[in-house]
Amino acid sequence: MPTDPYAWIEESLATIHRADWYRSVQTINGLPGATVFLEGREVINFASNDYLGLAGDQRLIAAATIATEEFGAGATGSRLLSGHRELHRDLERAIALLKQTQDALVFSSGYLANLGAISAIVGKRDLILSDQYNHCSLKNGAILSGATIIEYPHCDVEALRTKLSQQRQNYRRCLIITDSVFSMDGDLCPLPALLEIADEFSCMLLIDEAHATGVLGNTGAGCVEHFGCRGSQLIQIGTLSKALGSLGGYLAGSKNLIDFLRNRAPTWIYTTALSPADVAAALTAIKIVQQEPQRRIQLWQNVVQLKQMIQQQLPELKLLPSSSPILCFELSSAADALKAAQHLKSSGIFAPAIRPPTVPTSRIRISIMATHNLTHIEKLVEALSSM
Ligand code: PMP
Repeated sequence: MPTDPYAWIEESLATIHRADWYRSVQTINGLPGATVFLEGREVINFASNDYLGLAGDQRLIAAATIATEEFGAGATGSRLLSGHRELHRDLERAIALLKQTQDALVFSSGYLANLGAISAIVGKRDLILSDQYNHCSLKNGAILSGATIIEYPHCDVEALRTKLSQQRQNYRRCLIITDSVFSMDGDLCPLPALLEIADEFSCMLLIDEAHATGVLGNTGAGCVEHFGCRGSQLIQIGTLSKALGSLGGYLAGSKNLIDFLRNRAPTWIYTTALSPADVAAALTAIKIVQQEPQRRIQLWQNVVQLKQMIQQQLPELKLLPSSSPILCFELSSAADALKAAQHLKSSGIFAPAIRPPTVPTSRIRISIMATHNLTHIEKLVEALSSM
């Protein structure tokens, strides 16, 4: 008698439920912003990556609409076949200018940029050193590459140095990969020290600026600008979907690297090009990022304001170290994190519980936006106080 080959799915779901790790979507209606309609009720939005409030900006919407009318709803093919428009190149030039690199390449998402780039530039004979807290797309890119992967303890440059001095000579190429702003913690990678080590051991260094682009640095170029490392021999990945309010990913680096990836990155070659609407919205967002620094200034004022209020009024909160608009506080279990998120939601605050296996310890993750006002921040603190 044949058994049901899909029976394991129900058992796996039951295991996920038992651990309080079950995830489900929550429906948002209307334009994204500092407040959103969540399941029909207006709540203050501390769950979004839209740090500068651009996803609902009328200028991005207008650019996307015009591009759709002019070029169509879809790109119709991969970049190397029928999908390439001059607009894609305009966006790549704008990214390269922002990042002060020789060139840039746009992917369909940040996730795909990491998969494609890492798996193209290292292989079986190579070594990857990966920060333990790296985003899933960096980790999966590393696995896909077939290289030997060594994880180093989070931001621990001495441990990284030790591992390199033991292992570097056994491999052909070596690539260090790290988030620049760690997405589920909010702290920054020690970029200047990483560059030094990369130089000392002849390693390539790839940083993922997903949460830093538009947010860090005087012109919004990211962690590289924040640390004064712009123009260095780095490979910079990022996304168009967070502070830039659109969709897509990018890689910024040398002309040769970009040229190589156009020929060797499967997640760029074998997928449909970004839609004209996404490209036009991202292009408009980059202009706004450069022309309206007041958005970034307001964002950082909000971050300082919230941190001060938490320090003064809620010293018992277990805040994780953060140097970004991402603030997380730890809870002792996944069930407690879910309860806290539910309490916040019923108090009109949207801030998600993040649980294993995404992170090692359960937490509430708060993302601050430039478009939050003092009342929004006060209401968050009030809701946190009554937890
Ligand atoms: N890298 C990091 C650090 C991220 O946080 C994310 C998104 N969560 C990505 C890459 C993926 O970016 P995208 O959403 O554009 O695929």
